[in-house]
Amino acid sequence: MADTDADRNRVFRLAERPTGTPDEDVFDLSEEPVPEPGPGEALVRTLYLSVDPYMRGRMRAGESYAEAWDVGDPLRARVVGEVVESNGAGFAEGDLVTGNLQWADYATAPGPELSAIDPDLAPISTYLGVLGMPGNTAYFGVQEVTRPKAGETFVVTGAAGAVGSTAGQIAKLNGARVVGFTGSDEKVEFVEEELGFDAGINYKTTDDYRAALDEAAPDGVDAYFDNVGGEITDAVFTRLNVDARVGVCGQISLYNATEVPTGPRKLMGLIESRATVEGFLISDFSERFDQSVPQLGEWVATGELQYRETVTEGLENAPDAFLGLFEGENIGKQLVKVADYEA
Ligand code: NAP
Repeated sequence: MADTDADRNRVFRLAERPTGTPDEDVFDLSEEPVPEPGPGEALVRTLYLSVDPYMRGRMRAGESYAEAWDVGDPLRARVVGEVVESNGAGFAEGDLVTGNLQWADYATAPGPELSAIDPDLAPISTYLGVLGMPGNTAYFGVQEVTRPKAGETFVVTGAAGAVGSTAGQIAKLNGARVVGFTGSDEKVEFVEEELGFDAGINYKTTDDYRAALDEAAPDGVDAYFDNVGGEITDAVFTRLNVDARVGVCGQISLYNATEVPTGPRKLMGLIESRATVEGFLISDFSERFDQSVPQLGEWVATGELQYRETVTEGLENAPDAFLGLFEGENIGKQLVKVADYEA
């Protein structure tokens, strides 16, 4: 476990823009003075930080749904931390907060950009996972975009990940048959045995995705929550039922691609299925987190919603944790534990 020290601040900056799959050379770790909070700001000590697939998009200069980082910029992440100093930010020393901060031991932020979290309601790490951005993405992607109903079939890719594992369980709570694509037998067992999915498909050992779908989803697909894209999505598109809903949440299979494969994709079938394909971004729903978070919290408290976290120890290992997302090393939410929290 890495120590944090009140006199030094380790900060990860973007060393270079990656081409294709990123490696360690993308990250530069420097030691800098602990920043001083300006008027209206708080100084926050990082306890946990989140690494997320969308950060790959921020490393490229071109188009992405999140603003690009420049070479030399500190990398930013959703963080759970402890306020160590407040300069009129509206928080007290020792308050636990979440916010968009840095891959660093310490960072400052204006008070309005931080939200208080309650450690008595749920473990603090969950505010980056099942009760945080991924949980909310799953919630709105299921309840507002793909809208599976009782008796329908719901398919999710990235099924054992932070978003996918939650999305599949919410669809199950709605009464749907739930099928998940994921990348190992251990993950298939996780989604079937621990999360209660009706079927898991290991896409790395399955040659024929359409045949696998015919077995796991014999009545076709009514709702498709896509985290991955590529050939799995091509196969699902051929099995969409009339009036199916497709929610495009992520396309991780393409994030490291230097050229996005084009060609005749599987859109022809949409004419017959009259399916709706809708991309969505969780930030568009942020005003409604006061509805979703209590519901997610209640399901977690009752045990109706299970969650798993993969925790990498030490800020210095954050690049490994991030790169592991593209190798499928995580089950559930991938986090980095930066410092111990003592209540
Ligand atoms: P995650 O699923 O916890 O982690 C990424 C997972 O993707 C890996 O564990 C891996 O699992 C899978 N993966 C990696 N490369 C792959 C490939 N080439 N083909 C198929 N699967 C691959 O990540 P998350 O945070 O929950 O995010 C899931 C998706 O949702 C991402 O695409 C992310 O960008 C997107 N997202 C979108 C929004 C939004 O607002 N639209 C918000 C949050 C997240 P396997 O072992 O199964 O391969």
